[in-house]
Amino acid sequence: MKVDGFRIGLVTVIVVLFGLCGLAAGMYMTQARHLVGADYTAMVTDVVRAQEDPVKLRLGLDSLLDSPDSIHIQQVSHLMWLIPQRMESLRHSLENSDLPSQGYAPLLEELDYVKQQLPTLGERVERVMDERTPANLDSLRVLGLEVEEGLAWSYSELNELLHQASAEQRRMMGWLSTAVLLLLSMLVVVVGGLALSLLQIHRQRERLRELSETDALTGLSNRRKMQEMAQHDFARAARQGGALSLLVLDLDLFKEVNDRFGHPAGDKVLKAVADVLVKRVRESDVVARMESDVVARMGGEEFAVLLPDTDRDAATRFAERIRGDIERIALPEPADAHAITVSIGIATAAPGEGFDALYTRADRALYRAKARGRNRLEHA
Ligand code: GH3
Ligand code: MG
Ligand code: MG
Repeated sequence: MKVDGFRIGLVTVIVVLFGLCGLAAGMYMTQARHLVGADYTAMVTDVVRAQEDPVKLRLGLDSLLDSPDSIHIQQVSHLMWLIPQRMESLRHSLENSDLPSQGYAPLLEELDYVKQQLPTLGERVERVMDERTPANLDSLRVLGLEVEEGLAWSYSELNELLHQASAEQRRMMGWLSTAVLLLLSMLVVVVGGLALSLLQIHRQRERLRELSETDALTGLSNRRKMQEMAQHDFARAARQGGALSLLVLDLDLFKEVNDRFGHPAGDKVLKAVADVLVKRVRESDVVARMESDVVARMGGEEFAVLLPDTDRDAATRFAERIRGDIERIALPEPADAHAITVSIGIATAAPGEGFDALYTRADRALYRAKARGRNRLEHA
């Protein structure tokens, strides 16, 4: 229950975290798309070029007012044709850009007004060409000034607007880079943390599994592990054939050992017996058999050894060696004549026989060994 609650909490936190990140990133991107995607360079170039128009118009008109000649007349009439073209081209660029229209609407209005004045300006130029009366010159000067100022103001405001948009774009790019970097770092932290937690959980599980299969005192497999390994060995023997033998060992009169030397000394003896079994099993494995033997402490002072690919005779030789080794285990101080001995029941699996049945037979043989005087082997 506790683990489930923790897991649900963890998953919820991660989902919420990712959700929030996604939402923030989505909103930010929608905002940024308008600004970041735009290319203002071409528009700025057009505006800078257009800013020359009012200057040229002033020069042209001034010369017309002073001393009209064909070059200046041509220059002015070219400007009268060029200025509306430029205005339209800029209007088109602005309307197709991502800039908010309320920013440039007043400028377009001013340009529209100037555009409306251009035909009148043209008429006044022609009138001056026909009659250079002071009234005609004056009305051309006044309207010319109005047009120049209108153009100069609109273009300079537009230039400013584009510069601001460009600066905003750069700022947004900076923020976006930081946001992406932050998101990536968060992702690395979350994924790294998850991977570490999973690794830790995996290690803990392995450790728990090991503990649940191991006898704490001797480090041997326990009864449960023996049963599990036996399943595997029996299945293999059933598939491929081959004899399978089991030894069940019980230390003789072990209660007396505890009584005389104390429980901790008894524990040491149990460990020494485990060492003997492991050593002998390793030696037997060197003789190139396919499967390794399983040694387990089945409980108390009772042990078992499962020997795959081992027939009755080989199992007997193996058991005899173990019996001899255990007899030679040195007793703790104070030393006396008491020897540690073991009784061993040996059973070799009949075709189709399972582990439990084999164990029961070996156990019966063991009790026969006890009944017949201990420190000996008996076959099932
Ligand atoms: P038998 O030859 O008939 O097997 O006699 P026994 O004394 O060995 O048999 P019994 O079953 O009467 O006693 C087993 C003893 O093993 C009793 C118990 O104190 C001891 N024993 C069981 N587990 C441990 C252990 O972990 N450490 C120690 N020191 N002694 C243990
Ligand atoms: Mg015993
Ligand atoms: Mg016993």
